[in-house]
Amino acid sequence: MSDIKPEKIRCDACPVMCYIADGKTGACDRYANENGRIVRCDPLTVLARAVDDGAPIVPFLPETGEWDGEIARPVADPAADPAVDPDTMDEAQHFVTGIGAGTTYPDYKPAPFIVSREVDGADVVTVVSEAIFSYCGVKVKIDTDRHLGPETATVRAGGEAIGHVTTGEYGSQMLSLGGVHHLTGGSKAEGRATCAALMDLCNCQPVELTIDGGSTVVVQAGAAPIVDGVVEKRMRVGCGSATIGMFATQWKGLVDEVVVVDDHITGVVSEHQAGKVLGWADTGIRIKGRRSTPGRYFQVSEPGLGWGGTQVEDPLDILGPFNPKKGAVEGLSLLMVSTTGEQYAYYELNADLEPVRMDLPDSLRKSVGMIDENCEPSLCTVLFVGGAGGSLRAGVTENPVRLTRSVQGLTTSLTCGGAEVYVWPGGGITFMVDVTRLPDNAFGYVPTPALVAPLEFTMARDLYVSLGGYSPSIRSLDDIVETGGEYSFSSRVLEGSDKRQAAKS
Ligand code: SF4
Repeated sequence: MSDIKPEKIRCDACPVMCYIADGKTGACDRYANENGRIVRCDPLTVLARAVDDGAPIVPFLPETGEWDGEIARPVADPAADPAVDPDTMDEAQHFVTGIGAGTTYPDYKPAPFIVSREVDGADVVTVVSEAIFSYCGVKVKIDTDRHLGPETATVRAGGEAIGHVTTGEYGSQMLSLGGVHHLTGGSKAEGRATCAALMDLCNCQPVELTIDGGSTVVVQAGAAPIVDGVVEKRMRVGCGSATIGMFATQWKGLVDEVVVVDDHITGVVSEHQAGKVLGWADTGIRIKGRRSTPGRYFQVSEPGLGWGGTQVEDPLDILGPFNPKKGAVEGLSLLMVSTTGEQYAYYELNADLEPVRMDLPDSLRKSVGMIDENCEPSLCTVLFVGGAGGSLRAGVTENPVRLTRSVQGLTTSLTCGGAEVYVWPGGGITFMVDVTRLPDNAFGYVPTPALVAPLEFTMARDLYVSLGGYSPSIRSLDDIVETGGEYSFSSRVLEGSDKRQAAKS
């Protein structure tokens, strides 16, 4: 005898196979039992493209879950624009996304919606689905000079390992989070913590991450990072050497020596090629670091939260004694500055050729201010990386490898919630997308654990048929909006092709 109560019905939209009582939602909160039918809780999301730049863009319609007929509303006025065919206007300007569509699982069946449209006289098919990703993660770019932790150090959320620090980029620290090993290869707690952190990051929510042997950083896509409780403001103008090159002419004649302190490449203007070309005189300065090329020094300090991403709190710590035989004289002036211009100090040599700190002359304030002014605001960037491979493709065509070849050959366009993606060359369909370009809360999860992300494959109708597509399942936009799908009753329209476009308005 089964102890399942009769009013519970089974959701088969993912391998968890929840039994859901009437009026309740399943484990992922994405599906519910509504009067004995499994429904997707979020409405199917349709994007309406803005007619042109400057066109009014409005936010989501109120999320009542009720279809209010907005899909039929023209976004262009055919009377004012005779080039627009009123019969095809809606199809051409509305795009059905995978958001709210439901999943293809179990993958033997066609994707939830296969939409035909006419665009510029061409028959186009878009196959939409909410894909379940066990193989996925995020790459996080954090614009900061500060040392967040050593490369390969473990990154944790809620105490669980969810990824690692990877190789840094120009002015940014990089994290690689998620992936199938953290989602499925560790403990249950690790998988859950990884899935929760990935979903929050992808939905542009703040997530606190701790790095073994490093900092605690709050990451939120599109927002400034918060490193050890301090909001990061600026991204470096360049490395120390580049900063010397950019500002050498402005310093000439105002100061005898400039050192730009940087964890990676500390620059010294009198020795640097830029200084030599401008006729800078030797100053007898000595830098405690590994000299790479003239005026460029590596490893002046260990990485840290101090000047230019070093551990330096007092910049004089990176200087050796000044050498009188190589140009050091009493009164020689020295500016030391960090790569963001946030830290600076001015010195003059005394009779013993020791630097004595003094107020920054007004003549140098402008150049220090220029470094600061040329720094861009610090931001966190989150790219979702997923593999749209495996059986998901079976919901698109009966011959999945043809779809892969078509995506790789650029005859099928792949989008994620309507946002443009980058498809990695090579095998499979591995793509990356900037999560800020998707509508809000486009990502979900299932407790297997795995992430759920919207996907749309768009191609010419003839091509779709030749790929082995499910021709009988092709439907018109109007039909989809009026009658819904297996799980979806309601729709909503987001005007603007993506969040970036909406933000521009
Ligand atoms: S976790 Fe969600 S999608 Fe999976 S069976 Fe339960 S309700 Fe359905």
